[in-house]
Amino acid sequence: MVPVSLLQVTPKETVDVKNDPKIKEHVTKSEGIVLEDGIALTTYPEDSKPLGLEWGAAAPEVRGPVVCSRYHDGLSKHNAIGAHSGPYCVYHALAVASNQLDPHHVADYTNSQPAFSIPEQKAWYNNKDIVAMDPMGHLTPFLFDETAKSENVEIRPSISVTKASLQLFELKDAVTNNRLQVDGKIVLNQNGDVAVSKVAVEPVWYLPGVAERFGVSEDKLRKALFQDTNGMYPELITRPDIKVFLPPVGGLTVYIFGDPAYVSDPTKRVALRVHDECNGSDVFGSDICTCRPYLTFGIEEAVKEAQNGGSGVVIYFRKEGRALGEVTKYLVYNARKRGGDTADEYFHRTECIAGVRDMRFQQLMPDILKWLGITKIDRMLSMSNMKHDAIVEQGIPILERVPIPDELIPADSRVEIDAKINAGYFTTGKVMNQEELKAVQGRTWTDVV
Ligand SMILES: [Zn+2]
Repeated sequence: MVPVSLLQVTPKETVDVKNDPKIKEHVTKSEGIVLEDGIALTTYPEDSKPLGLEWGAAAPEVRGPVVCSRYHDGLSKHNAIGAHSGPYCVYHALAVASNQLDPHHVADYTNSQPAFSIPEQKAWYNNKDIVAMDPMGHLTPFLFDETAKSENVEIRPSISVTKASLQLFELKDAVTNNRLQVDGKIVLNQNGDVAVSKVAVEPVWYLPGVAERFGVSEDKLRKALFQDTNGMYPELITRPDIKVFLPPVGGLTVYIFGDPAYVSDPTKRVALRVHDECNGSDVFGSDICTCRPYLTFGIEEAVKEAQNGGSGVVIYFRKEGRALGEVTKYLVYNARKRGGDTADEYFHRTECIAGVRDMRFQQLMPDILKWLGITKIDRMLSMSNMKHDAIVEQGIPILERVPIPDELIPADSRVEIDAKINAGYFTTGKVMNQEELKAVQGRTWTDVV
């Protein structure tokens, strides 16, 4: 192991990239741009030999591991752009910068293997069905342990699989009020504790497949990712031979109720909620939207499906505020509350600030369903037309759609839900026209302050 003291990198002086003869020489020779202290700003195909990675291949030795680290021999052998851990890669860098982490630390994965098995699916082995996660991400360090040693590269998992039990007020309430029965296996006790199997997934994008999902060329996608992140990932441009990108965005968590093997069994019923993060409501109970009530309703219904002999799946995506982020979200809240918070203006307020009403791009969402082996959804616990259409377009039929019950909708969130229903969200109730939406008014600040 390299002592931490040897790993401290102190640039000798600021490098004038434009005029530095050394750099000019490198650029001319196409050897990549390398700073004096040996940090390569980017690499070029001529200089490196990425480890083989054939997305969609079935045999592990043909498919190969995702290698996305410059450490050890990774600079010349990496076959993916970006960094592991989504947005947390920056904290990893802070730990290295502050000498709290040896960047060459070799992880010991003893006993960290999946807590239950995920049945292999045909969808893992083609390059169309799954393009936004690594189907072998939970097995990578175990499958490719020898490769990591022989090639002297870091090979990290992008999926982990575990078990837990949940304690939620709403589930306790469901038991107390006889909406859920204690069975000792799924609902464990009168407190409403529920057993769950969980899968955490970090995004791993196969760029040709992602581009195809959006109907754009790979070249256009690469340029947009490079330019719109202000040049964070030069290899999107310099390394067209590297087809995999680990973006700095949040991943997802799967919560499975009942026997995980039932999820991919076509003879068993599946109830599904796909939920996008809304911290203000999900965790803190803000009543401006229906997120937490719909999430807990989804969990309760998923538990019921499992207790009836099927399985229930809730998938939680880290796409806060329609993937616009919480800062934008609160700005929109302010604009709504100051501008007259009516349902007819609901989407317009978001568009004024963000330019679009939604950036969640559900096109990539069905990958996780295919990875789990879900071939049909008996009960879809969501009203979103975007989620519905994305799933059906990927060839997974939805047999029943279940809207949030009216009694669970907080008064102040009528603005949101009625606007969404008008815009195409599924409902078994009334669809208001534009004129009627003007009368749906949210609470003003003066009502609460
Ligand atoms: Zn919300």
